[in-house]
Amino acid sequence: MEEGIFALRCGKCGWMTATYAVACASCGTGGLERVRLKGDGRVLSFTILNVPTEEFAQDAPYAYAVIDMNEGCSTSGWMPSVRSAGDIEVGDSVRFSGRRGRASIFVKS
Ligand SMILES: [Zn+2]
Repeated sequence: MEEGIFALRCGKCGWMTATYAVACASCGTGGLERVRLKGDGRVLSFTILNVPTEEFAQDAPYAYAVIDMNEGCSTSGWMPSVRSAGDIEVGDSVRFSGRRGRASIFVKS
């Protein structure tokens, strides 16, 4: 799998999403283009997972966060370096640091 974090962008109005879409949610245009994000964003919300999925069982506890990317779309990711609610705040700057399977990994920046 290609390393990096990507979004889909509408060539007509500039709307972007970091999740799956077949058409622009703003103007309905199809044929969204895939663009690479720089990887920087801010924490929009988070939760600390003490009982993770099997794939991440050895890493618990860790934070799972919704990230507002600087390009204007949001995504979600796993933050293995954040182990308690005291280690993270809404608004913290984070950056994409890689992938494990389909999960995006973020670290505080
Ligand atoms: Zn559009």
